[in-house]
Amino acid sequence: MTSPLVTIGPLRQVQPELETLLDAAIDGVVIIDHKGRIRLVSHAAEAMFGYREDELLGHNVSKLMPEPDRSQHDQYLQRYIAKREARIIGKAREVLAQRRDGSVFPAELAVGCIRNIEPPRFIAFIRDISERKQKDAALRRNEAALHTAQELANIGNYVIHFDAGAVDYASPQMMRMFGWETGNADSPAINHLAVRMVSVVHPADRPQVLQAFTDLDASGTPIDIEYRTLTSQSGLRYIHHLAQLVRDEQGRPIQHLGTVHDITDRRLADYEVQQMHSRITHSGRVSILGEMATGIAHEINQPLTAIATYAKACLRLLTNEECTPEELKHALEQISQQALRAGEVIRRMRSFVKYHDARIELTESNRLLEELVQLAQTDAHYHGVRVLLELAPESPRVRADPVQLQQVLLNLVLNAIDAMQDVPEPQREIVLRTRLDERGDVEFMVADRGSGVSPEIANELFNPFYTTKQAGTGLGLSISLSIIRSHGGKLWHADNPGGGARFFFALPRA
Ligand code: ADP
Repeated sequence: MTSPLVTIGPLRQVQPELETLLDAAIDGVVIIDHKGRIRLVSHAAEAMFGYREDELLGHNVSKLMPEPDRSQHDQYLQRYIAKREARIIGKAREVLAQRRDGSVFPAELAVGCIRNIEPPRFIAFIRDISERKQKDAALRRNEAALHTAQELANIGNYVIHFDAGAVDYASPQMMRMFGWETGNADSPAINHLAVRMVSVVHPADRPQVLQAFTDLDASGTPIDIEYRTLTSQSGLRYIHHLAQLVRDEQGRPIQHLGTVHDITDRRLADYEVQQMHSRITHSGRVSILGEMATGIAHEINQPLTAIATYAKACLRLLTNEECTPEELKHALEQISQQALRAGEVIRRMRSFVKYHDARIELTESNRLLEELVQLAQTDAHYHGVRVLLELAPESPRVRADPVQLQQVLLNLVLNAIDAMQDVPEPQREIVLRTRLDERGDVEFMVADRGSGVSPEIANELFNPFYTTKQAGTGLGLSISLSIIRSHGGKLWHADNPGGGARFFFALPRA
């Protein structure tokens, strides 16, 4: 049996069906004989190369290619015919082609040998791929730009496929961020990415991350969390993680797509600001105390000196036989007056401190706790402590100076963090609670799982300068107590069932 193409003589003597087919083909089709002469050109090939068919028929096909192929094509063909050596026959490959106007373009070429004809003829399918090449190059440029942007912003991205066979993807930035070998940096593909990710998360943050992954899988809740990673290569890093599900047309989840952002520098900067803030607060307290002490010393020194002087005078008078009771009475009156004066100085000082700066306003109890969490978050995070909120549904209000109450709460929370330094990290948890107590007062609670307050020191805690800490001032609780009392409230502590301490204060509801 012979192929219909065998009958191709000069141009266009093909069967009508075949002609239609060739002209409809998007690829250019060219048939050549064993000498490389063109015997047929499809319309698409004419358009692609910019020749009319009569300019090509009978000409050597090398006309359609640039150097060096142009000069070597005859040799290729002869070698193939002699040895039937399949250099390009059968498989598509990329070549350069040349148009009539001399311009060169990339093309995909597939050549077949037409069966059962001697001497042989060849059919070539040519596809202009310049557009695809341009798109590829643009894509590669975009990809490179994306990589650079990710590098600059410390962002990595990843894809987890739900299709069991598919391999997951993590960008080189993410690989580095998570302390993994990048291997082939162009296509970092890894198995079980989710498991690998969770394994480098700081143990204290792992439950939160697992929960976020579970919620995403179960209900499509997007991930927006911060956590720490801990690896030997990168040490402790802070990560902001965003992710969501990608679904197919039927709404079935097919991918889990996410970005990870290394925010360590920002977090450390925050922490430094926070540290500065607490140092300022602390030095504020100390300097107020310092000013007070100087003031007190100055004001009290005078009456004390006077008292000492009059007391000495009394002693002298007592040893003097000529001393009259009047003289003694006068000295003792002076002593009594000066002592009253000293007492008055102290009273004035205290009232000055008590009313100084206090700004009483209607304050929402839950707001206080929520703001406090933000204030204490950095310290808590740094020490591996979780902070939980249990808020009274009605968020009762109190009449108070919110800044002073914040100071009390912050002091209690910092004490709680200090108290939990020696317990294992998973147990380090602070519960902050507001509630209405049995008398209708608003009760605030700070509960920890720390060392607790032993009975021996329970009576001492609120004494000024009592501290068990090396760098403690022992003033936190006594100042807190005086603030709460000045608000008409009370402050106390109790054991925390299951370990640790609970500190409470209660204020009248506004
Ligand atoms: P400082 O914190 O500077 O020591 P405080 O007046 O705030 O001053 O606390 C006094 C002492 O009370 C602390 O040194 C500590 O021994 C004890 N204390 C305070 N809060 C707690 C707590 N939550 N758990 C255990 N002990 C505590």
